[in-house]
Amino acid sequence: MSAETHAMVIDGQWRAAAGGATLASVNPFDGTAWATVPSATAQDIDDAVQAARRAFDDGPWARSTPLHRAALLRRLGDLIKENADELARIQVRENGKLIREMAGQTTALANHCYFFAGVAEQPSGETLSSSVPDMQVFTVREPVGVVAAITPWNSPVSLLLWKLCPALAVGCTVVVKPSEITPVSTLFLARLIQEAGFPDGVVNVVTGAGEAGAALAAHPGVDKIAFTGSTAVGKKIAVTAAERLARVSLELGGKSPNIVFPDADLANTVNGVMAGIFAATGQTCMAGSRVLVHEDIYDRFSKQLTERARQIKLGDPLDPGSEMGTVACKAQYDKVLNYIEIAKAEGAHLAAGGKHPEDPALRQGLFVEPTVFTGVTNDMRIAREEVFGPVAVVIKFSGEDDAVRIANDTSFGLAAGVWTRDVARAHRMIKRLRAGSVWINNYRKTNHVAPFGGFKESGIGRENGVHATDEYTEVKTAWIDTGSTIA
Ligand code: NAD
Repeated sequence: MSAETHAMVIDGQWRAAAGGATLASVNPFDGTAWATVPSATAQDIDDAVQAARRAFDDGPWARSTPLHRAALLRRLGDLIKENADELARIQVRENGKLIREMAGQTTALANHCYFFAGVAEQPSGETLSSSVPDMQVFTVREPVGVVAAITPWNSPVSLLLWKLCPALAVGCTVVVKPSEITPVSTLFLARLIQEAGFPDGVVNVVTGAGEAGAALAAHPGVDKIAFTGSTAVGKKIAVTAAERLARVSLELGGKSPNIVFPDADLANTVNGVMAGIFAATGQTCMAGSRVLVHEDIYDRFSKQLTERARQIKLGDPLDPGSEMGTVACKAQYDKVLNYIEIAKAEGAHLAAGGKHPEDPALRQGLFVEPTVFTGVTNDMRIAREEVFGPVAVVIKFSGEDDAVRIANDTSFGLAAGVWTRDVARAHRMIKRLRAGSVWINNYRKTNHVAPFGGFKESGIGRENGVHATDEYTEVKTAWIDTGSTIA
């Protein structure tokens, strides 16, 4: 089977990279290089930024009304729904996530478009005159300009729409640089954007590796960088942005605590903790990778978690019967196995998994068994560094204060889960945990209405919810003197 050849889109034109270099997208389940995409050069990136600049400064987009932008976003939502199956399947081929996870997630993305269509038409700005005598003072929110959206591979379409919807709602233009692991789904989405009727140059996609992302972030024509990815790259982007004081929002990594109190409903909690770490093969920023368990139930809970982890059915991500797919790429696969070795060397007890499965049917794929380490302490590297794979570490705590201390003893602050039947404790924990999302008796929930983002090294800014548009606007204050008269 020959590989599909895909083009990228700049100013409405589908084209190869200047010079013709390409990158392959490799299916992590069967190892086939099933598609190629252009490897954008600095020239391509400059073309894309210039196109976005023209569309923002002079094109019809600059004069578009909120009503028109809302109509286009609604049309895009409809197209995403109509094409959700294909969009989900492409992502599964790219990153090995389960079709049964991707199908629902992709269909739900239409709601992002519909929600931000509504937000586009909301009044913005405030009138401030009452406390300023003889002045009419008001604010308006204006689009920040050209946005560079740089995205990772784990949920390529969702994480892009989290940026695109608010940016387009307020009238920005965008240059997207998807992950080199998952570029094809973004190019497919770009076709839907074109079909929805967004004018040329409003959304451009340049494909390429990290150097393409770096060149885009550094381009002086970019007003704002919206980045999702690792904390290490996020820090580099923050430095690049600082050099010209470009606006920047960063959605980065995590090492989120999932905290189990002895009064929790244990069966429900085991399910929630399992989903928190093993869904998406652990490749989610919000993975509940540190499982903190009260000492009274530590042994019982660890045993149940271990037994359940061993029963997870690994298999073809396109088979609806599979319960866990592959890791997305070889580099990530090696990284996960390396962290398992680090944990063993640190003295953590390997209770489940820890290797590539022995089943010959899974030999080709980048599978790592669902892995559980017990006897972990929070100072070990396996408890401090993001693995981004199916590896849970179980840490013992002695009481509420101890749980809070361990949970917050991390450089990250993306999310946290708490399992308890005590309502007062739940409220206390919400207040005391230093994380952007706290889930009580559930885990990994996100929604277009609910702000998402991190404390500390998990990022800067929030996506989703009405205030997501703040990340894509500048506030302008106008002063009109109403006291003086002109003769
Ligand atoms: P990554 O940081 O390696 O890459 C992300 C994107 O940045 C890719 O498009 C990549 O090509 C690009 N890039 C790489 N080097 C760059 C540079 N120097 N300048 C500009 N762009 C560059 O991340 P990844 O491995 O693709 O994704 C996994 C990471 O993403 C994890 O750390 C995960 O926690 C994080 N993540 C965070 C969230 C969130 O919302 N907080 C969501 C999903 C993933």
